[in-house]
Amino acid sequence: MTAFPDLIEKIRAAAPGLRGRLLANQSLSDLTWFRVGGPAQVLFSPADEEDLASFLAALDPSVPVTVIGLGSNLIVRDGGIPGVTIRLGGKAFGSVEIDGETIRSGTAVPDMRLAKAAAEASLDGLAFFRGIPGSVGGALRMNAGAHGGETTDVLIEARGIDRKGELRSFTHAEMGFRYRHSSAPDDVIFTGASFQGRPGDREEIEAEMERVTAAREAAQPIRERTGGSTFKNPEGGKAWQLIDAAGCRGLVRGGAQVSEMHCNFLINRGGATAADIEGLGEEVRRRVRDHSGFELHWEIKRIGRETTPA
Ligand SMILES: Cc1cc2nc3c(=O)[nH]c(=O)nc-3n(C[C@H](O)[C@H](O)[C@H](O)COP(=O)(O)OP(=O)(O)OC[C@H]3O[C@@H](n4cnc5c(N)ncnc54)[C@H](O)[C@@H]3O)c2cc1C
Repeated sequence: MTAFPDLIEKIRAAAPGLRGRLLANQSLSDLTWFRVGGPAQVLFSPADEEDLASFLAALDPSVPVTVIGLGSNLIVRDGGIPGVTIRLGGKAFGSVEIDGETIRSGTAVPDMRLAKAAAEASLDGLAFFRGIPGSVGGALRMNAGAHGGETTDVLIEARGIDRKGELRSFTHAEMGFRYRHSSAPDDVIFTGASFQGRPGDREEIEAEMERVTAAREAAQPIRERTGGSTFKNPEGGKAWQLIDAAGCRGLVRGGAQVSEMHCNFLINRGGATAADIEGLGEEVRRRVRDHSGFELHWEIKRIGRETTPA
């Protein structure tokens, strides 16, 4: 069984006022869609934004910090994640408030709930979030988007805490959004965001959300253990078409498989390791490169280390 040295006593000694929950050697596989991967050396769920800030300010700067959301775009490697992994809980970071045409949300809010709250307030523009199974925090980091809409289209500003424990805020321009990317500093843990809706008709927005759901059910293996689109679409090509043309549809490695339904999705057929999934992804990249010369880049974030601690 993989086990990291227990850091909790040291962390508590440096930050005696901590109110959040600290767990040592906590398995992360249940916290990701792929259901694979090793443990977090320490898993921290802060009580609120202030608790997160004081935790980070007191934490030894040499300890690495990783943040995860709902784990829908992640491969946690089999050796687990050294240092502290932070996951924001719904109690402190799960509120959604409507103020005129502005929607303010905590970053633990699932994108689907954000879409629903906007629709209930007859605010249009956020229906695309209905089909994305991540959290608002993940959407900010990934510039999540679907069905012609992206986070960048509706974000007003975001706030978060940096590695030193300082509160930072980012205007839309400062988020530096590109395709499935934000260039906000990597160390920032987003805690909240505000979005711009526009007045619309509730029934029409809800009908659009239903269309989004139906389109996904028909085209994507959304009930599988997967991480969504594995690779970004390269300039001038569609990842799934390149993968298909390279003969990778259905390709298997250990317990991992390229989805037969949508070949830019990898799935855990049961019993896959993170190494099976990542290795299969690398095999797909190699075959696509050999077949068409296109270089695929991972959209899925791969975190942690490959080998188990000695
Ligand atoms: C079935 C399926 C369908 C999908 N369809 C789409 C789609 O249509 N469009 C799309 O864009 N994506 C899609 N995805 C991918 C995924 O849902 C998005 O990338 C989503 O935004 C990830 O959010 P998350 O909370 O799950 O983040 P995670 O997967 O947990 O993390 C992703 C990244 O976000 C960072 N992160 C998470 N929370 C925070 C935070 N609070 N502060 C700072 N960084 C943070 C993590 O460090 C990591 O780098 C799909 C995934 C699945 C499984």
